[in-house]
Amino acid sequence: MTIAEGKRQQAAGFFSASHTPLPTDPIEIIRWALETYPDLLMPSAFNLNGVVLLDLAVRAGYRGKVVFVDTGFHFPETLATRDRLAARYPELDFVTLNAGAHPDDGQTPSDLYTQDPDACCAARKVQPLQRYLREQGPSALLNARSRDQAATRADIPVVEEGGARVKINPLAHWTREELEAYAKEHDLPVNPLYWDGFLSVGCWPCTRAVKSGEDPRAGRWAGKGKTECGLWAGENKL
Ligand code: SF4
Repeated sequence: MTIAEGKRQQAAGFFSASHTPLPTDPIEIIRWALETYPDLLMPSAFNLNGVVLLDLAVRAGYRGKVVFVDTGFHFPETLATRDRLAARYPELDFVTLNAGAHPDDGQTPSDLYTQDPDACCAARKVQPLQRYLREQGPSALLNARSRDQAATRADIPVVEEGGARVKINPLAHWTREELEAYAKEHDLPVNPLYWDGFLSVGCWPCTRAVKSGEDPRAGRWAGKGKTECGLWAGENKL
């Protein structure tokens, strides 16, 4: 039995009430989403979760866009991971939004992250992607978050309503160990920083390696009183 097949039983009960009954295998979830939301679109930062989801999505028949927001502050390893994925999955349409070179207000100081990381994420991540999504108009997004990534994500459903669009979270119930095993089983091009303790990789000024026993996302905005960039939580969430 593959890891993906082994998730079938565990997925039961993770759907929102208004969407039951639904398939429980992650590939079947994505196929259901493609039938239900033909304009489904996939943003990604190419973390471990995102790489696993991308592989599952291709197996499920997804052939749409994979949208990456280049804030101008990504690690070279992250950009290289994007390029390796684009080479591995030529059937997908990889789109990079160069938000770092063109922050929305044209006046965003390059070191805004030191003074106001919320404003920096808004200018370099949230607003550029929101604008792109308004132009593209998808009714649903395919997303790779999982419940064990952080205490604040512990209740993520597979079908998430609220915000401007429906979010489909096929990996909601996957553990980090299962994601790692799937990536190894399929020889996926995981960001090499991950294996050095960067369990969640964002922009280099706001990311550090995670220490033993810490929350997987503890390395993001450490000491800045911030846990989310605003794409998936908050009043302007996707
Ligand atoms: Fe700015 Fe840091 Fe957010 Fe990147 S993660 S957009 S550098 S505040």
